[in-house]
Amino acid sequence: MSRRVKVIITVLAITLLLPIKASAVTLGEYEAAVEKYTKELREKEAKIARGKEEIAAVKKSIADTEDKIAKTEEEITNLQAEIERCDKEIKKKDAESKKIMEYYQIENGNNAYLEYIFGAESITDMIYRMSVAEQLTDYNDKVMKELKQLIETNKKKKEELRKKQEELASLKKKLESEKERIEEEVSGVEGTVPSTKGQIDLYQKRVDYYRSRGCSSNDVIGVTCDVPPKVTPSSGGGSDVPAGAIIGENGFRFPVNGGRISWGYGSGGHKGVDITRGCGTPIYAVAPGTVYYVGNGLDLYGAYMVLIVHNVNGRLVFSQYAHVQPGIPVYVGQPVDTNTVVAYMGSTGYSTGCHLHLEMSRNYGWAYNGTYNQYRASIISPWNYVPSPY
Ligand SMILES: [Zn+2]
Repeated sequence: MSRRVKVIITVLAITLLLPIKASAVTLGEYEAAVEKYTKELREKEAKIARGKEEIAAVKKSIADTEDKIAKTEEEITNLQAEIERCDKEIKKKDAESKKIMEYYQIENGNNAYLEYIFGAESITDMIYRMSVAEQLTDYNDKVMKELKQLIETNKKKKEELRKKQEELASLKKKLESEKERIEEEVSGVEGTVPSTKGQIDLYQKRVDYYRSRGCSSNDVIGVTCDVPPKVTPSSGGGSDVPAGAIIGENGFRFPVNGGRISWGYGSGGHKGVDITRGCGTPIYAVAPGTVYYVGNGLDLYGAYMVLIVHNVNGRLVFSQYAHVQPGIPVYVGQPVDTNTVVAYMGSTGYSTGCHLHLEMSRNYGWAYNGTYNQYRASIISPWNYVPSPY
């Protein structure tokens, strides 16, 4: 691989690892963020409510369609019964006619009809009796014809109802898939509600905190208001300083007791210093300052971080402690010093093992002031302030 390709790949890799969240300058921007996410939440809630109304309406349509299907089924059953009744009637009339025809055919001497005919008292009576028999078969034929027509009509009606029923069934299917679609949409929106609420909470807490620190909307946080306390050089190694602490004359300290540098600043584009000392190792603030961010909402990969702002002779210096364990012992707004455990070594976010990524910047802090790019451009080697353990 050529050197040029290697450089491009390294730059790409570093670019991909970059978190991409910008930061605010003034308190007003945090207030605007609260407003923006609150509006978003209202819109989502309205959308959910609308979706639920739609679901209720579709459910009603489904129930109505089911009713219609049931009614059609009933009509079909009635028609079928009517067809069967006509069929029976036809068979009965047919049997009757056949019987009468049998009488006519005079097939055996014991025929009751013959007896009836020949039992006539006169020719007139005999003719009369024969015509009665004829009329009877004619009548049966007529009735049978009518019944057959009725069956035909009912069969046609039944066919039409079956078609109607099929149409209703496909309508019901359509309504059900529409219901499912809306339900999915609603649950999709519902799924994003907690994160919107989280954003409101995050920015509202910042607004509340900086308001309590006397900042107003136009104030640039940390610059025109809530300026952090000055770092005052310590004598180092005082009785209250944990054993093993390395404290510089400038008041800064190495953030862990002991430990090993596993990745130096600047090598391969590394923007910080990686320190290993085992999972759960206490991490101390590198200098007195104020915690202004705690959590895993800033890093793209969800690394837990503590962000501290320091005032070094009136100049803002920032320290970042990344990949730490989720249980963070400090809160936003807490004043800290080099004796304060601000986090415990962990492996959260884009990390392959427990380590501390210590990153520092001057003038611009991540999610504190300026843009993310301004912050990136203002990253410095921690060794500008922090004493090396070696
Ligand atoms: Zn690192």
